[in-house]
Amino acid sequence: MIGILGGTFDPIHFGHLRSALNCLQGLSLTEVRMIPLNVAVHRPQPQASAAQRMRMLQAALVNQTDLTLDSRELQRSGESFSYDTLTALRAELGTDIPLCLLLGTDAFANFLTWHRPYDILELVHLVVMTRPNDTSITNSALSALLQKHGCSEHTVLNTAPAGRILRYSQATQLAISSTQIRQLIAQGFSPRYLLPDAVLAVIEYEQLYR
Ligand code: ATP
Repeated sequence: MIGILGGTFDPIHFGHLRSALNCLQGLSLTEVRMIPLNVAVHRPQPQASAAQRMRMLQAALVNQTDLTLDSRELQRSGESFSYDTLTALRAELGTDIPLCLLLGTDAFANFLTWHRPYDILELVHLVVMTRPNDTSITNSALSALLQKHGCSEHTVLNTAPAGRILRYSQATQLAISSTQIRQLIAQGFSPRYLLPDAVLAVIEYEQLYR
């Protein structure tokens, strides 16, 4: 079973890394692929360039062989639709292996506005990682989706390649966001201890987010 964590990673921080590692270990994944987006669909574009975000991810993932960097979206022009990425991954990995798309509750709250969400559920499971300050899900269509596809045991994910939704609360709650890190730097404060030192070194070298 493979995990997939997509994001802007502008910059990558311990909230991403810790929850990826929690899912890797807690769900017995063989690997978590970190996939930085190229052109955002539902949010402002990243401040750092694709090359700079890649450099930060590479710095963060040194010596961590189970968390891997997958740059396919950066190599594709146009908007980065998860559906396209997951279709390409499926074509490579075959139809049998369970794939788990890992996402925070904030991302899940908008899931039904994504491009072809119901088709995405035919390609992968969703693992919704709770995040500090999460608000409860009030959207009725999303509640119905959870009702239909939700499961409470992670072992269920192994029994099918796709189609289930697990709300996963075992991940360490770290109230860290890329927005907070960018704001700290813009205000002249250090974001140290919110992200790996090696990532901070890239930010300082590239003079990012000032
Ligand atoms: P921004 O503040 O710029 O919106 P972010 O910190 O939310 O960025 P993204 O790169 O947009 O980071 O997030 C990628 C994925 O990681 C999303 O599914 C998001 O919900 C999840 N994520 C981000 N931070 C955390 C965290 N602290 N704990 C759990 N999941 C997180």
